[in-house]
Amino acid sequence: MRARIAVNGYGTIGKRVADAVARQPDLELVGVAKTRPSFEAQTAQARGIPIFVADGANVDPFRSAGIPVAGRTSDLLNAADLVVDCAPEKIGKENAVKYKEAGKPAIFQGGEKAEVAEVSFNALANFDAARGRQRVRVVSCNTTGLARAASVLRSAYGVEEWEATMVRRAGDPAETDRGPIDGILPTFPIPSHHGADVRSIFPDLTIATAAVVVPTTLMHVHVNRVRLARPPATVAEVLDRFRATPRFHIFRAWEHVDGTPQVMEYGRDRSPSGRPDVMENVLWEQGIRLEGRDLHFFQAIHQESIVVPENIDAIRAMLGLAPDAATSIARTDEALGIPRPAK
Ligand code: NAD
Repeated sequence: MRARIAVNGYGTIGKRVADAVARQPDLELVGVAKTRPSFEAQTAQARGIPIFVADGANVDPFRSAGIPVAGRTSDLLNAADLVVDCAPEKIGKENAVKYKEAGKPAIFQGGEKAEVAEVSFNALANFDAARGRQRVRVVSCNTTGLARAASVLRSAYGVEEWEATMVRRAGDPAETDRGPIDGILPTFPIPSHHGADVRSIFPDLTIATAAVVVPTTLMHVHVNRVRLARPPATVAEVLDRFRATPRFHIFRAWEHVDGTPQVMEYGRDRSPSGRPDVMENVLWEQGIRLEGRDLHFFQAIHQESIVVPENIDAIRAMLGLAPDAATSIARTDEALGIPRPAK
């Protein structure tokens, strides 16, 4: 029998997680909860996804819009084995009370503080830590990107210290109230909170991060300097290691990917999940350099989608649906159309 999954909150992350759940052979999407009707509710309806109305929200606007309502969030929770909370940041903490009352395991997103859950999660880094847990937090987009890269570099070469500067998108494409539309905004204070968030997964990692916000809506770019304990002989070795790891994509120079616009265009062309998403960490062959023990590299992160496969793996870890991380990751990625790593 497939595990029954509810998604509470159907915005940027929620709609992607819901679609991803629906594509997994061992999971069933029992429905999504929304606070108000929108074009997204209409799309969900067209896809045959049952729509529940958040407890406390008004059902009438759904009825007027002609969108059938399957019940309230409490009904959705009753019908599910696990709920993935995709409500706006800080709301997940409020929702946690309802999940506990309903006795349902829950996954939270990176907009919540680490304390909302027993474990902060990344599939490559700590899949087993989420086994059998009741409350797990999938870390934010930037933290997921850093944690994936840290998983690779720590196990292969050891990491003595990490410095990362994050060039962050100003808002998601639909967030018309976010800015700046001109200018570069340093994020205060230094260091930014991202380093501490990475330590919610790797408590012993020495990492300092800083961030600036720029007027773009798709992707963050990280500028990394990582001091390795046991550096490899060549940078080609590092690239091969990233290539052999799930959820990394390395562009070659001849592919002429100048920056994030081409990365997203590649995503639109390839369209792995039915959405033009790029769920991998994206690196450039010409954007990585080894200088003594210091590895310098850029990586780009599609903020809307990188956490989606991690949510699926978190479900499997919590419900015991896969024997290990590698099995779950392979199953998730195949269902989502994420290319397999090189052998
Ligand atoms: P969003 O605003 O796009 O979507 C949130 C949805 O939840 C909206 O549809 C909203 O109407 C609905 N909602 C509001 N109150 C609710 C309630 N009480 N119960 C249920 N649903 C409610 O937000 P998002 O960008 O999808 O972010 C969701 C979470 O994912 C946040 O924790 C965020 O920090 C995290 N996250 C976001 C991104 C990103 O780039 N957007 C990346 C990684 C993680």
